[in-house]
Amino acid sequence: MSRLLGLQEGIIYGPVNSRRLGRSLGINISPTGRKICSFNCVYCHYGWTKVLTTDLSDHMEEIPAPEEVERELATALERLSPPPRYITFSGNGESTLHPDFPEIVDAVLRVKHASGTAAKVAILSNSTAATEASVREALGRLDVRIMKLDAGTQKVMTRINRPAAEVSIEAITAGLKQIGDVTLQSVFVDGEVSNIADEEIAAWLDGVAEIGPNEVQVYSLENAPAMSSLIGVEPAKLEAIAEGVRRLGIRARAY
Ligand code: SF4
Repeated sequence: MSRLLGLQEGIIYGPVNSRRLGRSLGINISPTGRKICSFNCVYCHYGWTKVLTTDLSDHMEEIPAPEEVERELATALERLSPPPRYITFSGNGESTLHPDFPEIVDAVLRVKHASGTAAKVAILSNSTAATEASVREALGRLDVRIMKLDAGTQKVMTRINRPAAEVSIEAITAGLKQIGDVTLQSVFVDGEVSNIADEEIAAWLDGVAEIGPNEVQVYSLENAPAMSSLIGVEPAKLEAIAEGVRRLGIRARAY
């Protein structure tokens, strides 16, 4: 498997050809010098998290203000032809940790409408801030929410996602259920650390059923992981996990 990916170096990146979204212009509102995240996922393709936190308020000098995001996105959309299919919050860490995330969402939507582009605005999120009402409301203003759920229990989340101490799987599940209109994205891994034991999949399926997403995207390693000894899960197993989701009456796709 290829090497770890380098961190994004600016606010706007791409467009990249996303397997799930097509031609997507990325927005990175996380720090560019080091990875700061509320998770430290064993499979993260940016390597290990340098600062594990749910609170970026002590790191304001490392993250962009809403006006900067607005300006840079406007410039990028002006120059880009053809326009992207999606404008996607993603990047070096977790966008929703930015204390001004709601204002940045409004700024991005303003630029998008002013530019006249038909692009949709999406987010790839680790779900840890779905516990906050202001974040849920801001997420609700986007077109597409792709939210992480790799575990059904605190024990498995601690093993796979290595979260900041205050992150609770029950609170995440309740927050995602409140948002309602979400796509779940779930990563399964094996080897030194694994989340594919039958009872772990069963607990995860309970969480999926409680949230009631539009769709679940099931996948395994796509790039080199932070924990180099990890093993990818076979396509047949991923398909069996997706089939378990379909039995709940929820659309699912294994990648
Ligand atoms: S949530 Fe995303 S950026 Fe953060 S550690 Fe996990 S994979 Fe990496």
